[in-house]
Amino acid sequence: MKISGKTKILGIFGYPIEHTLSPQMHNAAIEVLGLDMVYLPFEVRPEGLGIAVEAIRSLGILGVNVTIPHKSAIIPYLDRISEEARVIGAINTIVNRGGELIGYNTDGEGYVRSLKRELDFDVKGKKVLILGAGGAARGILVSIAREGPKDVIVANRTITKASTLVRELKGLFPDVGMTALGLIPEILKVHLGGTALLINATSLGMRGEGIGLPLDALPGDTVVSDIVYKPLITPLLEEASALGFITHNGLGMLVEQGALSLKLWTGLDAPIEIMREVVLKYLDNPYPI
Ligand code: NAP
Repeated sequence: MKISGKTKILGIFGYPIEHTLSPQMHNAAIEVLGLDMVYLPFEVRPEGLGIAVEAIRSLGILGVNVTIPHKSAIIPYLDRISEEARVIGAINTIVNRGGELIGYNTDGEGYVRSLKRELDFDVKGKKVLILGAGGAARGILVSIAREGPKDVIVANRTITKASTLVRELKGLFPDVGMTALGLIPEILKVHLGGTALLINATSLGMRGEGIGLPLDALPGDTVVSDIVYKPLITPLLEEASALGFITHNGLGMLVEQGALSLKLWTGLDAPIEIMREVVLKYLDNPYPI
């Protein structure tokens, strides 16, 4: 990598930040595209968030990704945010356009693109069950709702968060049936019939936890999807695979949301396959590269 006086800076704000795979993924893409740019991790503590955002302007940083815990807290510091990010209530990408800082959210669209690219799966007219009502689930729900599913159920441990989310979005997508439920296996069991896509958008699975749903109540052609990518094969996906369901892991969403951010910063199409290979290399990889 050649750094010169002309090299443009990209990066990611988060706390903690050591675990991120975005620098490896983006720097590989930057190299393939032959760009004079570098992507750096920035450990930004919550109390320093405002100063860090101001530094994007004062240091002429081209753009940053934003991760936990700043995705919502950072919004008041920006000049404007996209309509989609406003509905989601969180951003994961900032673009510095000549000193104007604009926030976007590429997580949900990244998820939908990953489903299309990897499985050629279209949610239009289908029933979708989303587990979780946190930041990632909000982004996914908005992007999925735009695709015109018939029904979406949002099931969350804290049911009030699921109800609030559904209440907020119902008015925006009047043609999509939306229901909020608790993440209670006995209750969810009766709602599994007819599901075309089950998405785990909770953090369950990161530490080896299962979801506890009776998957055998799902139709045989249900796609079981998990956005957790560490581990790549969560207990949910392992169980779904053993039962013969088509499975979809969180790697594609990670790569696609990054590719969409890179496009916002550079206007270029990202080398998806290279980014995917690099992330796989750094994950505890059960697949051959
Ligand atoms: P978040 O805003 O903190 O939301 C966490 C969600 O998980 C909430 O719905 C929470 O329920 C639920 N949850 C946490 N612990 C639980 C437990 N023990 N039992 C049941 N539910 C539990 O986090 P997020 O940003 O949405 O991220 C969620 C997951 O998605 C993380 O694992 C993250 O790594 C992954 N993710 C992946 C990608 C990707 O590119 N593949 C992108 C973003 C996020 P409550 O509301 O009840 O607390």
